[in-house]
Amino acid sequence: MIRMSAVEKHFGSLHVLRTIDLEVPRGQVVVVLGPSGSGKSTLCRAINRLEPIDSGEIAIDGTPLPAEGRSLAELRADVGMVFQQFNLFAHKTILENVTLGPIKVRKVGGEEARKDAMRLLERVGITDQADKYPAQLSGGQQQRAAIARALAMKPKVMLFDEPTSALDPEMVNEVLDVMAGLADEGMTMLVITHEMGFARRAAHRVLFMADGEVVEDAKPEKFFEDPKSDRAKDFLGKIL
Ligand code: ATP
Ligand code: MG
Repeated sequence: MIRMSAVEKHFGSLHVLRTIDLEVPRGQVVVVLGPSGSGKSTLCRAINRLEPIDSGEIAIDGTPLPAEGRSLAELRADVGMVFQQFNLFAHKTILENVTLGPIKVRKVGGEEARKDAMRLLERVGITDQADKYPAQLSGGQQQRAAIARALAMKPKVMLFDEPTSALDPEMVNEVLDVMAGLADEGMTMLVITHEMGFARRAAHRVLFMADGEVVEDAKPEKFFEDPKSDRAKDFLGKIL
C-alpha cells in the first residue's frame, strides 16, 4: 500500500532521510519511534509530498507519487493525515470541516457529504458537536473531528504525526481508542507516537528511526523486549 524505494532527503547539509526502503502492506499498522530530530515527521510528510524528496520513489497503492500537479492533489486525497495540532478550520463548524474536502475535492453532493460526515462523527463519538466551532470543543474532541475529517476523503492510508502529544492526559485515550478502532477495521496506518501502550496494543510493526535511518523494523513484542541496537536500547531506557 505504501512503498518507498531509496528515498533520500536533505535539508541543506543535513541528511534527514537516508536511503529509506519501506513497504507497508494493506491493513498494516506501523508505529514509528525514535528520538527527536531522527526524521519521523519528515518521513510522514514525504509520503504525502508535503515535503519534496531529493531522490527515490514513493508509491501509494502501486501509483508513484508525482512531484506536483493535479494528479498530486488526487493522490494526496488517498492519504489522510492527522497532526499534533488539530488544524481544523476555525471559522467553520465541525460538520463543515468534515464535508468540505469531499465536496470540493471529491465532488460529492452536499446532502451525501453531510450524511457521510454525520456517520463519521458518530464513529468518533462527537455527533453532538457537529454544529459547534472548533474552539468550542475540547482538545480530544477536536482531534477526533480531525480524524473524521481525514476519513471523509476515504483515504487508503492514514498517517498520524504525534496525534496525542498536544492533548491533556485525560483526553489521550479517547483519541487512541478511535485510532485502535480504525486499526481493527483494517486501515493501513503509519503512526508516530510516544504512546507505547498504543504501540503494543495496535501496531503490527515498529520502526525505530535514528539519524534519518530506519535502524530497527520489528514486531512490537520483539522490539520492546529485545531491541537490537544500542540506540534503541538507549531510547527505550529513557521512555519506559
Ligand atoms: P520530533 O520527535 O522532534 O518531532 P522528528 O523525528 O519528527 O522529531 P523531523 O521533524 O523529521 O524529526 O526533523 C528531522 C531533522 O530535520 C531535524 O534535525 C530538523 O531540525 C530538520 N528539519 C525538519 N524540517 C526542516 C526544515 N523545514 N528545514 C530545515 N531543517 C528541517
Ligand atoms: Mg516530528
